[in-house]
Amino acid sequence: MNKKITIKSISQQDKTVKASININGHEEIVTTLFNENCAPYISLKSIDPYVIGFLYFAMNYGYDIESKLPISEELYYNLHFHFIDSLIQANPNFHRVQINAPLTQANNISFNNKNIVATGISCGVDSLYTIATHGKQSSIPSDYKLNALCFFNVGAAMKGNYEPSALIEGRKKLAQTFAEEYGYKFLYVESNIHFIINKYAPYSHVENHTYMALFCCLHLQNGIAKYYYSSGYTIKDFSIIKEGNKELDAAHYDLLTLSIASINGCKFYSIGSTTTRLNKVSYLCNYPPAYKYLNVCVNEVQNDNKCFKCIRTILEIDAVGDITKFNKVFDINEYQSNFNWYLRRLYIDCKLKKDPLLQEVYPYFKYKISLTFKLKTIFSIIINKLLRKNG
Ligand SMILES: [Zn+2]
Repeated sequence: MNKKITIKSISQQDKTVKASININGHEEIVTTLFNENCAPYISLKSIDPYVIGFLYFAMNYGYDIESKLPISEELYYNLHFHFIDSLIQANPNFHRVQINAPLTQANNISFNNKNIVATGISCGVDSLYTIATHGKQSSIPSDYKLNALCFFNVGAAMKGNYEPSALIEGRKKLAQTFAEEYGYKFLYVESNIHFIINKYAPYSHVENHTYMALFCCLHLQNGIAKYYYSSGYTIKDFSIIKEGNKELDAAHYDLLTLSIASINGCKFYSIGSTTTRLNKVSYLCNYPPAYKYLNVCVNEVQNDNKCFKCIRTILEIDAVGDITKFNKVFDINEYQSNFNWYLRRLYIDCKLKKDPLLQEVYPYFKYKISLTFKLKTIFSIIINKLLRKNG
């Protein structure tokens, strides 16, 4: 018999939603908190958010999903007749999840107040690009212009069994300040669903991020009309194939996932998949809010200039724009006085370690990397290795 996820009840008290869920005989409570701005949009009329939230875990680890509470007919149809079989076609090891729950039709779900056009804001390159191209000043048709920015704290900051709260608070504050400064409604959601999944199988946010954003958005079905999901990959990188033990980044197929989750008058779009990372950076080089808010660091609340994401982004900006405009978010003096250190990192990570994310920016600095520079770099790596071996 297959393992089971049973969604027993969903209840709301003030701005907290609790779902009582049984996972293969163990009782769990998924607790999801919303800020005041979300309150009018919370919908508990279906199990939709929980089906999507647990779906990748269920496919990957062999669970079926059942409930006496209803699932939206449209979501059931999309998953049962399209999405799950598509993923299984590509990944025969995945479990063919059965969803046993009564169906509810769209007219049972309130369409009132569905006027939210939103996107997530992390202040990274992808999210700022979405805001720059779909925000108030953009040339997008008026019905498609953003009026809300979301910060979903569901798994992105997870490190093993905990989450660094100072980092989350810092990022949330930055997102909220941006929303206030530029006149967007700020929607905040946090949940423990990823910690619950992690009790039964290792949770990977890389594999689950689209599902987690949809988990949050589908709780807000009474408000969200359009949601733009910022994609990290271009359409030519589309893939649903999980290779061996390698993580299958959910961004590789978010076009599919988002179209399947577009139900009950709420449409999800993948933004940024039509262009390259360097084109996005180039766009942001002429978007003043980025000069104040661009934040990519994996280590600190402020960009530290030292992690792989900071290094990549500084080099990208320097390649296609004016790096001095970004002196509020990066230490430009440090970058300019230690430029050879950055070049060395670029050469090592791009050419020796074959990092695919640096291939696009390398040609812009190629002419600065001489044969002597390459030989010196390789020589110092060998010396360091020998010293470590003997030390
Ligand atoms: Zn950093």
